[in-house]
Amino acid sequence: MEHFYTIQGEGVHTGQAAYFIRLAGCDVGCWWCDVKESWDETKHPRIATEELVRAAAGSGAAFAVITGGEPLLHDLSSLCTGLHEAGLRIHLETSGSSPLSGDIDWVTLSPKRFKEPLDEAFPLADELKVVVLTRKDLIYAEKNAEKCPSHTRKMLQPEWDTPESIPLIVEYVKKNPEWTISLQTHKFLNVP
Ligand code: SF4
Repeated sequence: MEHFYTIQGEGVHTGQAAYFIRLAGCDVGCWWCDVKESWDETKHPRIATEELVRAAAGSGAAFAVITGGEPLLHDLSSLCTGLHEAGLRIHLETSGSSPLSGDIDWVTLSPKRFKEPLDEAFPLADELKVVVLTRKDLIYAEKNAEKCPSHTRKMLQPEWDTPESIPLIVEYVKKNPEWTISLQTHKFLNVP
């Protein structure tokens, strides 16, 4: 859908420069999704893997973030091989609802109840990032965290248009400090 050099706004690597590769296509269907224009893959041009790798490598970024849409609707093997050969680390943002492909260095698993993660996704999660709108999502977060390894970083992220979730999250993290808060800081910075 698009690729660009920016600042990672969310999660453990917040604030770090990263080359974003946003792949089109998503079959998860979150009603609050902020990139609905990514859902229909046919509305976006095909771009050669080599071109993406060249752009990412030329940017000066230390790592690339493959995101979507749901990027695991695509076979990521050749893209990952190219990015690694160019010396970039590879981060992936996924709902985990399709089989993993490619050699990924950091997996952000962001489970969605609209299409649940596959069991095979949980052991791969370096970071679990759950979007929170209501108290029910905190229960959902714990349910998913139970399936993750002990080293997985656990993060709760308020849904941008649901600021009433913020006090819920703050109170929850104070009581459960193994969780931390992820904010969409790129929106505050006004960068893509
Ligand atoms: S998985 Fe991501 S891209 Fe797909 S609908 Fe949900 S928020 Fe949007």
